[in-house]
Amino acid sequence: MEPTGPTDDATASRQWFSPVSSGASILADIDYDRDGKQFGSLCVIQPSGGIGWQPLLIPIVCIHNGAGPTLLLLGGTHGDELDGPVALLKLARELQPDEIRGRVIIVPALNYLAVDACERAAPVDGRDLNRSFPGRPDGSLAEMIAHYLDSVLLPLSDLVLDLHAGGLRHRFLRSIWLNEGAAPELWNRTLRAAEAFGAPYTAVSASLGGDMSESAARRDCVYMSTEAGGGATVDPAVVTLSEAGIRRVMAHLALTPADKAPRQAAPTRWLRVPDSRGQLLAEGHGLFEPVVNVGDEVVAGQLIGRLHRIERPEAPATELRAPISGLVYGLRWLAHVRHGALVATFAIAEKPPVFTGDEARTA
Ligand code: CA
Repeated sequence: MEPTGPTDDATASRQWFSPVSSGASILADIDYDRDGKQFGSLCVIQPSGGIGWQPLLIPIVCIHNGAGPTLLLLGGTHGDELDGPVALLKLARELQPDEIRGRVIIVPALNYLAVDACERAAPVDGRDLNRSFPGRPDGSLAEMIAHYLDSVLLPLSDLVLDLHAGGLRHRFLRSIWLNEGAAPELWNRTLRAAEAFGAPYTAVSASLGGDMSESAARRDCVYMSTEAGGGATVDPAVVTLSEAGIRRVMAHLALTPADKAPRQAAPTRWLRVPDSRGQLLAEGHGLFEPVVNVGDEVVAGQLIGRLHRIERPEAPATELRAPISGLVYGLRWLAHVRHGALVATFAIAEKPPVFTGDEARTA
C-alpha cells in the first residue's frame, strides 16, 4: 500500500492505519488493538490554513496488554498549559505493558502547534480546541483534532483525563475540574473517578458548551480535567500530583493492582464554581497587584487587588473586590490587564457526593 503519510526518510516506511470511523481526516500509524508499546503519530493529512499542504504529526503513545479498560490521557489541549505535557512525557517513557491489564493511550501535546507556540490556540487557526467539539473532518485544525477525538479516541475509552493548567494568564488551585451534564450513571462513575484521583480540591461547574466533556458524555466515557498551577511554567507540585493521580486512577479502573496506587494525603475537598457571579472582571486597564493568594478564603466585598494605571501616576488605583464569599480558585498571573479581563475566579464549598448503590449526587 502506498503510504499516505509524510515522505521524508524518517517516516516514509511508516504504515498509516485507517481510522476506525470513516470520514476522519487524521490517520494514526499505530494499531490501537496491538499488544505492546507503540510510539507513533496522529497524522493530520491536510491541516488547513497557514502551514500549507503538508501533513502535521502529533505524537501518540499506546500501551496495551490484553483485555481491560482504556484510559486516555491528554495534555496540551491548550498550548500554554505545560505541567500536563511534562507529566505525560515522563509516563509515556516509564509505563510498560506488563504493568497494566488493558490499554493506556497518551497524547502529551494534543494541539501540537499550540504547544509548540506556547499559545492557548494554534496560530494556524486561532481556535480554542476545547470549544471546537464535536468538530468537523473538513474544518480547521482544532475542529479536525476534535473530530478525531469524538469519532475515534473517545469511543475507544472508558475514561479521559485532560490535563489543564492556568495558562499564561492565570494560576489555579490544584484541582480536578468536572463539567456537569452527564447522565446519572456516567456522572456517578465520574464522581468516583475524581475522588480516586485525589486532588486537594475537586471543582464542579456547568459545561461551557462545545467542549470535550460533552463529546465524552455522548460516548459514555468519563471525562475529567485537571486545573492546577499556571503561568505557562512547570510546577513540581503539579507534576507530582498529576503523576500520583494518574496512578490512582489506573488502580481505580483496575488497569493496575490496587496496591500499586500511591497513597492519597487527604480526601479531596469539593467545590462549586458558580457561573459568572463567581468571576471578577477588571474595570479599566493597568497593572494588576493582587493582595490575596490562590486558596485564600475571602468574603464578598473584600479587596482582591488593585489596578494601577501606568500613564496616570496621580490617579488612585482601581480597587477590585470579591463579588461573592468563597475560596480564591483562580487568580490573574500576568500583570498586564485590559478592561474586561478575568482577574479572579471564586469557588464555594460543596458537600461531598453521597454514593448510594449506583446512585450519586452532589449535595
Ligand atoms: Ca485550559
